[in-house]
Amino acid sequence: THFGFKQVDSKDKVKLVRGVFDSVADSYDVMNDLMSVGIHRIWKRIAVQLSNVRKDETVLDLAGGTGDLTALFEKRVGKNGQVVLADINAQMLRTGRDRLIDKGLVGNVRYAQVNAECLPFEDNTFDCVCIGFGLRNVTDKDAALRSMYRVLKPGGRLIVLEFSHPTDKITEKVYDFYSFKLLPKIGKFVAKDEDSYRYLAESIRMHPKQDELKNMMVNAGFERCEYYNMTQGIVAIHRGYKI
Ligand code: SAM
Repeated sequence: THFGFKQVDSKDKVKLVRGVFDSVADSYDVMNDLMSVGIHRIWKRIAVQLSNVRKDETVLDLAGGTGDLTALFEKRVGKNGQVVLADINAQMLRTGRDRLIDKGLVGNVRYAQVNAECLPFEDNTFDCVCIGFGLRNVTDKDAALRSMYRVLKPGGRLIVLEFSHPTDKITEKVYDFYSFKLLPKIGKFVAKDEDSYRYLAESIRMHPKQDELKNMMVNAGFERCEYYNMTQGIVAIHRGYKI
């Protein structure tokens, strides 16, 4: 057990993750803003800046959910570029597609229901793969990183935007209180779902530390790997290249 939660085997984890995102799809955007007091928008903007995505490029927004990152990439690639919003969960994908169409983002955005562990795209397809707040939900992270490497073009880059581990003790204490005491309560009142938000706190603690994830990227074949801590390490952005 970990923080009072039972360790689940990998099949159970896939089901559990699906259940979590099915039940949060509708309240997902409101909760993101509430939980992070809007800061997730800044983290996402910085991730997109670090991706260096330019006009006419092809981007995979993996575990893209309701499409925040897709919307930012869409502006960068322009009408002749392409962004693929990909997610394992059909309900999240539908919510994302409806949102993007409502914003008028059509023509250069495509949708795909995929599992990050075995991407159904040809080798060397994308200039950039970005996975935002998604990797920690993936059961076999090494397989997923290898799969992302495979679909990147040479010169392409991977951006992993993910919750990470506080870089100092004070932040750690405040953050522990926030995520284990307050967050499940906010989840209970706003999304009527305490358990999913407890799972969120739990999955963040189990996610590899900054240096460990960097090593996993190196092992998957990525080069020039580095990471940037944001908000005292609450979030980290990892970047690596396929050379
Ligand atoms: N990227 C979006 C954002 O930053 O707002 C959504 C992040 S949301 C926290 C995580 C997403 O990962 C969910 O939509 C979930 O369905 C998706 N996901 C979980 N496991 C996955 C997998 N193995 N392959 C692809 N997507 C997955």
